Formats: sequence, C-alpha cells, structure tokens
Amino acid sequence: MHPICVTLPTMAKVDLKQLSFKELDAFVLKLGWKKYRAQQLRDWIYRKRVSRFDAMTNLSKPDRDLLESRAVIGCLDLMRHQRSEDGTQKFLFRLSDGQAIESVLIPDEDRHTLCISTQVGCTLDCRFCLTGTMGLIRNLKAHEIVDQVLWMQNRMEPDQHLTNVVLMGMGEPLANYREVTEALTRLTHPKMVGWPPRRITLSTSGLVPQIKKLGESGLNVNLAVSLNATTDAVRNRVMPKVNKHYPLESLLSACRDYPLPPRRRIFFEYVLLKGVNDTEADACRLLRLLKGIPCKVNLIPFNDYPGAPFGRPDDETVLEFQKILIEGHLTAFIRKSRGRDILAACGQLRTEAAANRLPVSS
Ligand code: SAH
Ligand code: SF4
Repeated sequence: MHPICVTLPTMAKVDLKQLSFKELDAFVLKLGWKKYRAQQLRDWIYRKRVSRFDAMTNLSKPDRDLLESRAVIGCLDLMRHQRSEDGTQKFLFRLSDGQAIESVLIPDEDRHTLCISTQVGCTLDCRFCLTGTMGLIRNLKAHEIVDQVLWMQNRMEPDQHLTNVVLMGMGEPLANYREVTEALTRLTHPKMVGWPPRRITLSTSGLVPQIKKLGESGLNVNLAVSLNATTDAVRNRVMPKVNKHYPLESLLSACRDYPLPPRRRIFFEYVLLKGVNDTEADACRLLRLLKGIPCKVNLIPFNDYPGAPFGRPDDETVLEFQKILIEGHLTAFIRKSRGRDILAACGQLRTEAAANRLPVSS
C-alpha cells in the first residue's frame, strides 16, 4: 500500500508491516512526527515483535492513540498445527484473502530451521512435487514472507531460538523476485529483523536470469539450486517448464559465474527418483557437471505423497550414489526426510484455499 493512503481520512487503516523501510519513514513524517520515530516503530515491530500499539511503552498515550486510529500491525492467522513423530512441526496459516500457506519448523540437535513459503502454489510444474500440482494461485507479498519468521520467533520456547531460515516451502522464490528480495532485505536489514544473511538459504529450481540478478543484489544469502537430473532429457521429463527455458548448460554456467562471498559454496539439491536419476552413471555425470564449482550436494531421497508418479530409491542405492560423489571429492550429504508422516517433508506441501478456520492442535 502506498503511504500516501494514510493522509486520506476515509482510507482503511494502514498495516505497518506492509510498509518498506522508506514507506515507514514517510508514514511517520505524514503524521507530523520526527523521522527517528520510524525506527522506534521498526524496533517494536521487528525486534520486539509486538502486535499492539499499547505495548509500545516509549510512545506517549496520545501518540499510541493516534497510531491506533491510523494503523494496524497485521499478523498471520494460524489455522492448523501438526507435529510429526520426529518433532518436525507444520503450520498452516490463513492469509487475509482466505488463501493458505504452510511453514515447517525442523528441530535438529542444536539447530531450529524454519522452512518458509514464497508463493501460494508454484509457477512451475516439477513432476515430483506436490506443490507443483496446485499451479500458481498467487505470489506472496514481502510482509507475508517475513511474517512467517516473526510469527515463529514469537512462538519459540524461551530457551530456544531459530537458527536458520530456508526458502524451500511452497513456491519458486525467484519467480516472485521483487517481493522475495524485499522480504530478504527486511529480514537482513540491521535496523529491521537483522538476521545474518549466511543463515538464510534461498532454493531455486533454476531461473537463470534471476540467479544472475540475485548474485548482483548484494543480499548475500546462500543459494541452493535444485538440479535433480544430469541430462536435459531427464530434466525435461522431471522439471519440464524450467528446463525448457533454462537447460542444464545455461544453469550450470550461471552457477559457475555466481559471485560467492569468501568461504561460501553453492548447494545443489538432487532429489533421487527410483530408476530415473539414481544410477551410477548419473552420479558420475553429476561429478563431471559440478567440477570446478565450489559446492556441496544435498541428496534428497524422493518423499512420497498420495498419487505420486515416482518411487523412493532404497537406502543402498542412495548410499552408493553418495559414495561415488564423495570418492570424486564432492561434499555430499543425504538429507534426512523430516516430517513425512504429516506431509511436511520437501515437496509434500499443498494447501486448499481456506476461508474456514480448522481446529488448532498442539
Ligand atoms: N521451488 C524451489 C524451492 C521449493 S522446493 C525449488 O524447487 O528449489 C524445495 C526442494 O524440495 C527442492 O530442492 C525440490 O527439488 C525438493 N522436492 C520437491 N518435491 C520433492 C519430493 N517429492 N521429494 C523430495 N524432494 C522434493
Ligand atoms: Fe515449484 Fe520447487 Fe515444487 Fe518445482 S520443486 S514445483 S519449483 S516448489
């Protein structure tokens, strides 16, 4: 929403979380306040994460009343909460237009990783991914992306805190470039959420022009690329839309040119699909394709869902694939499938438009 709206008495109240850094400055000036007040508001919203003006104790009562009459602080609406046997938790949120998204919290020893969504559904149609079957319903706005993090920070136990944020939930982040990069700006800005960029990972299926733009943006978050095949023939089959536009050669060339901060590497994700891309020949080709790129590989054994057209390779095949990569001097991990029993693992997120509240359980 443009800040000019707040000057018109008939307009609806402005949601301060929807405003960018500059827009919040402008909002405060329009109220006739000094600019430093904008920073006070940012501290309350992004650091102390309050949702009510009467909690803003360094503002006078008349100032809080003025804010109350002109603005609100929006917040995601939790509709359903599920907990997996392995401790993974899935949260279904309702957005203001009745659409729904999911975020997943993955505890692991001393880490708590939050996997967030960037679109309702997805622009792309990767054949192994349940989100892909939804099509694109809409892009998320920057504040809806940031709010998944703020909401979860508020929810953590006092002795716990989020350690990592991954843009690996619903949607293709780089297909929603403007809002996603605005969200990353707010998350990493020292005067907003102030999250260290090295603790944020953006995963893309491989939109080459946007990968280049992201590299030039100076945002410095980690880049993960979902490769998932070692030949164009197989990639066209499993990721038809993206590979048609950006085949392997163009994708890997963008990765080679990607400006990495010192000691950083690109992560390549590789979903292992039984009998499709899990052979010894694939592992050897993968080694050749990634030669010279500072990287790590995450192998993700396919996570099943009802009606899935692929199978999950057995553990032996997965270990053998990893062994070939390691022997070829690539760093390769097998990603544990977390939360499969509640459909919270990679590629298992899917929501219905959800105007009605479902029971919230813990
Ligand atoms: N759109 C982005 C981020 C969301 S998908 C991307 O494609 O990278 C996050 C990860 O889940 C990707 O690496 C994707 O390849 C993987 N994935 C999708 N469906 C999966 C499934 N059924 N099993 C395992 N991993 C899957
Ligand atoms: Fe979209 Fe990623 Fe799923 Fe492909 S794997 S359909 S890009 S969410």
